[in-house]
Amino acid sequence: MYGAEFLEPSKTMLNRMQTFWNWVCRWITNSFYATNILVLSAEGCFAPMSIYAKQMRLMTAMRIVTAIQENNIATAMLPQSFPLKRDHRPEMNRGATFDMNKSGMRPKVWSSTCATTFQTRLPIEEFAARALKMLPVGQMPVRPTRLLQVTPEDAEGHFNVRATVRKIMHQKWVDELYLQYYEYRPPYRECWNFMTLPKFMARRVNQMRANKSYLNAQTDWSNQDRDHTCPRCGQESETFLHVVQCPSLEGDRRGKNMQTFNIALDLGLWKGNKKGIKLWDEFSSYVMRNGINFPVKMRVFPFTHNAQLAS
Ligand SMILES: [Zn+2]
Repeated sequence: MYGAEFLEPSKTMLNRMQTFWNWVCRWITNSFYATNILVLSAEGCFAPMSIYAKQMRLMTAMRIVTAIQENNIATAMLPQSFPLKRDHRPEMNRGATFDMNKSGMRPKVWSSTCATTFQTRLPIEEFAARALKMLPVGQMPVRPTRLLQVTPEDAEGHFNVRATVRKIMHQKWVDELYLQYYEYRPPYRECWNFMTLPKFMARRVNQMRANKSYLNAQTDWSNQDRDHTCPRCGQESETFLHVVQCPSLEGDRRGKNMQTFNIALDLGLWKGNKKGIKLWDEFSSYVMRNGINFPVKMRVFPFTHNAQLAS
């Protein structure tokens, strides 16, 4: 979006971008149309657009205030009172915007905590104000550059701030844009361990976790009247939890690591480490072997069927 580094997009614009983003997530996760979009974003490991837009604005503010004045004209134009490490201050005509003799309202200064919406800031002061939110006290760190030797503290401060922005935004995603029934919190800056599996395999699981799938009990508005019972055992309703506990598949699970069939939150199965990947191999072959959450029952695929007839 044009100007996304500085401008806050309107609600309508955000919604439009989010719609496109939902298509991307649906394509990645093969989710049903009925899947809730907050669940969809978590399954696809793409934060909602509002989070990305905010992160981009904060990152830009930090990029400008941590640059050196000689290198970045925007940094050089920061207000005199802004605590920059270096003294280089070129001449500017910002005084004109604060001219007392002119009529009308003067712009709000960067350090103002006044909450009025009538008085607005100059763009550069808005950057300063956003940066101040991230680093409330002390001087701004300096970004390492080829032009200048920076102190280790400055360089570290710079990288810490970037990591902090990312963490805050991830936390915001987890705290605010989540639904109660969807338990899986997305891993920080990586995707789910199983997403690198072959697409069909991995998407069986994406769909089941999102609670909208071909399982009988995971219905949506269009098929909520269908029979919820499990076609294998005919005893309980066929949920994600049931398919890993179904008595008729007991024989297939026997002798395997029982952690493979524990789909509860925060357990080995969802971890990105070697052990998690090993559990995944076993879990995905269980899903494939038993045709769990397959789009067609009886495991007859129309195309293979025709091909067999023709040959
Ligand atoms: Zn069953």
